[in-house]
Amino acid sequence: METVRRMQQFDVVVVGGGPAGGQCARVLAKAGRKVLLVERHQNFVTNSFSSAGTPLETLQRYGLPDSIVGSYWDQFVVVTSNQSGRWQARSPLGVVLDFAKLREFLADEVRGNGGAVWMNCRYVRHQQKAGTTLVSLVRKGQEEVVTTRVLVDATGPFRSVIYARGEAKPEFLSGTGIEYLIEVEDADYQRHANALTFFLGYKWMPRGYSWIFPMSPNQLKVGSAVVNADHQFVKQTQPLKRHIQLVLDDYMKLKTYKLVEVHGATLKYSSGLNDIYYRDNVIAIGDAVSTVNFLGGEGIRHAMEGAEIACKYIQSYLDGTISDFKTYQSEMHKVFLRSWNLSEKFGKKKYLQDCDEIVDKVVTYLRPLSLEDVVDILFYYRFEKVSKGLPQYLLRKLDSLWTRLISKLKSWINKTLAY
Ligand SMILES: Cc1cc2nc3c(=O)[nH]c(=O)nc-3n(C[C@H](O)[C@H](O)[C@H](O)COP(=O)(O)OP(=O)(O)OC[C@H]3O[C@@H](n4cnc5c(N)ncnc54)[C@H](O)[C@@H]3O)c2cc1C
Repeated sequence: METVRRMQQFDVVVVGGGPAGGQCARVLAKAGRKVLLVERHQNFVTNSFSSAGTPLETLQRYGLPDSIVGSYWDQFVVVTSNQSGRWQARSPLGVVLDFAKLREFLADEVRGNGGAVWMNCRYVRHQQKAGTTLVSLVRKGQEEVVTTRVLVDATGPFRSVIYARGEAKPEFLSGTGIEYLIEVEDADYQRHANALTFFLGYKWMPRGYSWIFPMSPNQLKVGSAVVNADHQFVKQTQPLKRHIQLVLDDYMKLKTYKLVEVHGATLKYSSGLNDIYYRDNVIAIGDAVSTVNFLGGEGIRHAMEGAEIACKYIQSYLDGTISDFKTYQSEMHKVFLRSWNLSEKFGKKKYLQDCDEIVDKVVTYLRPLSLEDVVDILFYYRFEKVSKGLPQYLLRKLDSLWTRLISKLKSWINKTLAY
């Protein structure tokens, strides 16, 4: 006799176990909702693509434990073609997370709060039938159908749920990053420990930036990212791996290192945040609605923040107090739109339009600022603070002009007196 398996029923099915999906499922499971989190990879180590640098605040705000921290940073270094700057704080201002451990932690929290987590499980399609949403998943090679009241697209740049299969997607701005995880000798590690180091300008990466992040004792993340669009002046660029090699050879000058892992990904960002946020009972979160910031490519805490906003509306929808997610879209725009539009504008200028001298000058403007100010500008988008460095830069310029004038005047007087 054929055995008929009953379809499993959930309040919420979250597709994608990234920071957005993990946090969304965690919050809803904690609230007592019947949640399923599905992730197409077998484990979180296989797609550990993110450098995962973030301000210290992220740990406290999202209740993240020390065990997922790779290292702390209290310094910021920027190297351009002809300039460099170093900013240091008295105590750590941020962390580099272990991206695999972060997502494992969130998934464990879902399980710990009674939710289900299905790894090696791929979302295929969904359909509405007799007032129910049927979700087709391929789990360990077998197709399985579950039902849900709300379906969440947390598939990041793929946007696999909110867009139907084969449906045309609009043009996105995109950026691709590749990162090496390397093991180095202690002396080499110490040179880069505690600091986020960024490389900008034509010498290092004309259409993006490269970086060195400390991961854990003797392990460094060295990467390079490029915006996939034309630069006003630089017409030809090298493959990303050549830019990483440049940092390894010309800056780090390592005698030996062991390549532990190579990973990378492409981010897709909707200019002006014109993503689809919801369709009926399907709601998109995280990078699926461009929560990643275009200027720095920083997206973990923003994906988590957006997920928490979505959770509020998902709860109201389940409770029957709202019947669509229009207000979710409005709140997301209220929170992100202004800063994200500005970041996009500055990002396009820096990565696609600026000449090398301007990139050098930015370091000179920022040099008089404290690390706290630099973090405010780069992580909290308080761009008005850049002008704090400008008067000091101009004063120094005036000062050196004055000194040169005086010395010229002195030598003219001396020459005249000598005659
Ligand atoms: C090279 C690089 C470096 C970065 N560095 C930083 C950094 O230093 N700091 C920072 O804050 N951010 C960084 N980011 C950005 C950050 O990682 C992302 O913004 C963040 O991961 C977005 O989270 P998310 O959950 O929205 O999407 P994702 O993390 O992309 O998660 C989406 C998940 O959905 C899964 N999925 C996709 N399709 C399916 C399917 N059909 N079925 C089931 N599962 C599916 C994927 O496997 C994935 O796990 C970096 C990104 C890159 C590419």
